[in-house]
Amino acid sequence: MNDLDRLLELQANDTATDQLRHRRTTLPERAALVELDRKEQQVRAEVAEPQIERDGLARDQKRLEDEIATVEGKAVHVHKQLYDGSMTSPKEAQALQADLESLKRRQATLEDEVIELMEKIEPLDELLSGSKVALTAIDAERAATIASLAAAEAAVDQELVATLAARQVLVDAVPASLVAEYERIRGGAGGIGVARLQGATCLGCHISMAAAEVDVIKRLPAEDLAYCPDCGRLLVR
Ligand SMILES: [Zn+2]
Repeated sequence: MNDLDRLLELQANDTATDQLRHRRTTLPERAALVELDRKEQQVRAEVAEPQIERDGLARDQKRLEDEIATVEGKAVHVHKQLYDGSMTSPKEAQALQADLESLKRRQATLEDEVIELMEKIEPLDELLSGSKVALTAIDAERAATIASLAAAEAAVDQELVATLAARQVLVDAVPASLVAEYERIRGGAGGIGVARLQGATCLGCHISMAAAEVDVIKRLPAEDLAYCPDCGRLLVR
């Protein structure tokens, strides 16, 4: 095997390495994680307003319940005055009785308002707990995807270790100047630095050259490097 044949092997190995690196950066788990983030944002956006509404209703409920407690306290006080024998006239008793009834009515009204609020809160709570379930499911799927991504990366990394080790063996077997020339062309030609000439066709760019051009290449001394006139890659003839 001559140096150029080894260079073709190096090319095949480098192409395999490039494909592995590409596979590593485009593992489907990466796109899946982006999609999960998008889903999470969507769920959070959907419940942002209901959450604000629910918090507001809960504040209203608290305010009403505090007011009910105050009214109840007043009613207890009036009730005590009515029955502790401290009254001095039936007129006073009548006034206290009227106060008590008014307080009871006020309490009943407030309690109805609380029930109305609770009826508004209930469907919001259902919606919010539904979103919590969805977020928990997204978190679980994310954890599984991250684990799957790590496993896939490890598998690719193992293959990369093998191709890079094989590369070193090939590089050591080819003159350094030839490897440098190959690297130079490969860097500017989409990862392909050397290609076989098959008949009149360069297998690097798949363009067929004129018979005269092929002739020139075929007549080159064996130690001279040949280049494709179309793509500039090294040719193995
Ligand atoms: Zn070419």
